[in-house]
Amino acid sequence: MDKLRFGWLELIGRADYNSPMRDDMARVVIIEREIATRVASMADEITAIYADNGEGITIVTSLTGSLVFLADLNHCMPMRNRIALVAASSYAGKTTESRGARLVYAILPDLCNCDVPIVDDILDTGGTLRIVQDLVRSGRPRSVRTAVLLGKHDVVPSDFPVDFLGFYIADEFVIGYGLDHDGLYRN
Ligand code: IMP
Ligand code: MG
Repeated sequence: MDKLRFGWLELIGRADYNSPMRDDMARVVIIEREIATRVASMADEITAIYADNGEGITIVTSLTGSLVFLADLNHCMPMRNRIALVAASSYAGKTTESRGARLVYAILPDLCNCDVPIVDDILDTGGTLRIVQDLVRSGRPRSVRTAVLLGKHDVVPSDFPVDFLGFYIADEFVIGYGLDHDGLYRN
């Protein structure tokens, strides 16, 4: 079987870096500077939407792929916010084929009357985000929005509700900037 190679979200800013991981990477899909610029502008968009919320928003993030994105986003958002975590999974081990999303666990505070942006790394079929949205809505928040770093062009249903989207990419499996394959390459 041919070795799997992935599209790479450049985190370390050194695509020429002489790393043993280099062999597993097909190409750089988005360079570090582009990611940083877009994430900062997404943070501005999100901050502006919630400008009249003085009490603070509750960000719900789905683990583990969104952690790097969330950290950078949060770093650029000068407003009160809380962070709550859910874990949803759609990829088992070494596959790059989704087997349908399922919720693994959730640690959610009281969301009643809160403004909740859901932060996720990548939107593929939308299964993961749907599950998280349903869970959040069951907490009767005042509003639910979604912020996703990446959307796969040919896969995401055109009517899927995403309020903030970082980049559209082609339908290829990507790693880096928090995204993994079989738990690896999040760096
Ligand atoms: P969906 O449920 O089909 O929308 O898939 C979304 C989830 O699958 C994301 O939150 C990721 O955890 C994972 N995923 C989808 N595509 C990729 C990819 O290209 N690389 C890494 N993880 C992915
Ligand atoms: Mg995920």
